[in-house]
Amino acid sequence: MVASPPSHLMELPRKILIGDRVIAEVGPFVRSLDVSARSVAVITGRVVKERAGVSCNSSLEDAMLRTKWHVVSDASMDTVNRLHDKIKDDRPDFVIGFGGGRSVDVAKMTAYRLSKPFLSVPTSASHDGISSPFVSVRGIDKPHSIKANTPIGVLADTHLLSQAPPRLLAGGCGDLVAKITAVKDWELARDEKGEYFGTYAANLAYMSAQIILEESEKLKKNERLGIRTVVEALISAGVAACIAGSSRPCSGAEHLFSHALEYVAGGAECGLHGERVGIGTIMMARLHGLDWENVRHTLEDMGAPTKAKQIGLTEDNVVQALVKAQSLRPDRYTILSKVKMDKKKARELAAATKVI
Ligand SMILES: [Zn+2]
Repeated sequence: MVASPPSHLMELPRKILIGDRVIAEVGPFVRSLDVSARSVAVITGRVVKERAGVSCNSSLEDAMLRTKWHVVSDASMDTVNRLHDKIKDDRPDFVIGFGGGRSVDVAKMTAYRLSKPFLSVPTSASHDGISSPFVSVRGIDKPHSIKANTPIGVLADTHLLSQAPPRLLAGGCGDLVAKITAVKDWELARDEKGEYFGTYAANLAYMSAQIILEESEKLKKNERLGIRTVVEALISAGVAACIAGSSRPCSGAEHLFSHALEYVAGGAECGLHGERVGIGTIMMARLHGLDWENVRHTLEDMGAPTKAKQIGLTEDNVVQALVKAQSLRPDRYTILSKVKMDKKKARELAAATKVI
């Protein structure tokens, strides 16, 4: 008899609102998620607050919600702790993360610690954390992302997203193409370790990579279509992680490589999450026997880096990160568990894929 898969909880966003200038509807949107809410804590970044704070705040106040704004500048556990101490006595009914990856991550973690519902309002389409329960914060004892609660809602204003620097959108594409190697790693773990594999979640994540791989030329030519497609694909990838109950469909060896780069760079600037992950995907695709050149061309089309030096990394950084990557998360079986990297193999791989 075949053993049934282990049980897990699927927590999904309840409502997702996407469209031009929908930030003006954030108040009624919160109300529709919680009719009895009275107060919200809005966690944001300085630039976003200056750019769109007024419109967001007036919509919340028009919906009879008391607001308290908190500006954060980094995504670290110190910031989360400070914010938690500051907000807990206010007892907000809702936490909103309004901004880029850092604001959304800090807000998601804070909401989780306060046991309050969380609304994700991203202003850049740079990674799939906008709809998933996973957060990346510095200063925790794990080098990879950790699980908090899934956002109860996502509000994506395509007008605001279009004002973000193009580099962030390109980074989002890097985080999307990554799903092809993440899913391959998951299949490998199923085949070689008997790990639970969720076909539906895997297909959903795979599809969000596929659309970028197949349509990058079209998306590059039409900016509005590009933003809408990338943000929908990122939300969908995040939902795939919700369905899987783990980050498996979204994060494989290419993510471990990215975490290892942060480690070897020792806190120095080493590109955006999606940029590092995109470069990692080119190399992991080759190890998996996938069409790595198509991954590379897609990233180029979307304006994302494909070479280490474009994000300030040296050849040695890449080699060290490739060798180190799997050791950061030994329990996550990936292609790097199978093809054990040494310096020679790592250098050959990076050179063959033109990363160095
Ligand atoms: Zn990612």
